[in-house]
Amino acid sequence: MITNKILNDLPKTVQGPSYDRDTIKNGILHFGVGNFFRAHEAFYVDQILRDSPEWGIIGVGLTHGDRSKKKADEFISQDCLYSLTETAPSGDRSVRVIGCLRDYLLAPADPEAVLAHLADPAIRIVSMTITEGGYNIDEKTGEFDLSDADVQSDLKTPEKPSTVFGYVVEGLRRRREAGLPAFTVMSCDNLRHNGNVARKAFLGYARARDAELEKWIEENATFPNSMVDRITPSVTPDIRAKLNSENGLDDDLPVIAEDFHQWVMEDHFANGRPPLEKAGVQFVEDVTPYEQVKIRMLNASHIMLCFPGVLVGYEYVAQAVKDGDLRGNVEAFLNEDVIPTLTAPAGLSLEEYRDSVLHRFSNAAMGDQTLRIAGDGCSKIQVFWTDTVRKTLEGKRDIARIAFGMAAYLEMLRGVNEKGDHYTPNEPTFRDAQWTLAKSDDFTSALELPAFDAWRDLDTAALDQKVVEIRKIIREKGVKVALPAR
Ligand code: NAD
Repeated sequence: MITNKILNDLPKTVQGPSYDRDTIKNGILHFGVGNFFRAHEAFYVDQILRDSPEWGIIGVGLTHGDRSKKKADEFISQDCLYSLTETAPSGDRSVRVIGCLRDYLLAPADPEAVLAHLADPAIRIVSMTITEGGYNIDEKTGEFDLSDADVQSDLKTPEKPSTVFGYVVEGLRRRREAGLPAFTVMSCDNLRHNGNVARKAFLGYARARDAELEKWIEENATFPNSMVDRITPSVTPDIRAKLNSENGLDDDLPVIAEDFHQWVMEDHFANGRPPLEKAGVQFVEDVTPYEQVKIRMLNASHIMLCFPGVLVGYEYVAQAVKDGDLRGNVEAFLNEDVIPTLTAPAGLSLEEYRDSVLHRFSNAAMGDQTLRIAGDGCSKIQVFWTDTVRKTLEGKRDIARIAFGMAAYLEMLRGVNEKGDHYTPNEPTFRDAQWTLAKSDDFTSALELPAFDAWRDLDTAALDQKVVEIRKIIREKGVKVALPAR
């Protein structure tokens, strides 16, 4: 176990925090202490704490169940410390222990403790990584979905919330009542304009609760947009054991990530911010061109690779990108469909970016899983593919690769690969109705899934027909035969 006690006695190859943990104070509260947050935001904040100790982080988990309880217990018994292993595609690696988490709260176990922090003037930023689908936006209407059962329950008892919306808005209500300034709400999820999406979600909830409160939040809180980037795989028990044996640590909570990392953010903070530029964060006026490139190239091609990769039977992303046919299809998608319809930020070559993305996918040391990338595909397709699909349909461009991607996604949802092995696709936003559509054998019903809602206002007849044709080929002859001609 890693605890404060062993910080002075770490193996020589492991770098510890550069500051005295006792001097650190609370400044940020973070919802969703998943792998990405631990390898990204926490990694950046950790680097500025020696000079700016007022920005320590309180982590909050919102989910119920045994796994959540176990994770909370592990954080507490490790004094909220964990190791981060950074690996390069060459296999080079470095290890550090991250110390910026000051506490970990499991919200369902003690909601009042979370609310007390949210109302504490020391907390000036509330950040979150709650997944792409976690903002409860209805893609058809573009609005916050007030019909959600958990949201309805929070609206009935707003002072005893359970959702992130309920917590944040109740925290802001308490601050307003106490005459305190609001905080910045900082989304770090992979969404186009994640700050605007967060604003829509939190204001949508606040409006349904109390119009005056919504107005105060709108005038006093800020929701900066950001582009976040660092590939961070899930840590299985096997990976944990391997990391510990390689690092000479006994860590219950190790994280592994690629050596590449990027964070571009709009400098709109309601109540101060850490000097993250000292750790390499780029502050810009408008994040749009950066997020467009990242989402439409890296994230879009990641799922374009992994939906068919899962079907072929590849467990790891590095195996899928080594397959010349699958890689060639992703290159063609980027070259023919994405790059010609994308504007690069000044000074960035899209061709070089394409090559760097494919190089990053080939990082075998990370052991990143195709099923992780393919998971929550329904939310990811809406975010990562929509602009490219719309431009393709509106410009009457070639639909072959997009149709293939959609077909591969739908076939992947069936949960069996070409080797006959079964797996469990992860679609956290699906209810029974969506699974019925996904598992239907008629090839067309699944086209009604919300994954494809964002371009349903366009003429999709030819695209839909092509998807059905390709699904049949995948089912009868396999993914490789169904790949678009190049
Ligand atoms: P993870 O599974 O390790 O963690 C997800 C966290 O979100 C968990 O703490 C979970 O409890 C919480 N969560 C899920 N749904 C929620 C909800 N509805 N409300 C509140 N909390 C919820 O996953 P991760 O790898 O940390 O990825 C999380 C998000 O980070 C992604 O969805 C993506 O938007 C962003 N991201 C991830 C990567 C990556 O490579 N892993 C890269 C860039 C961005």
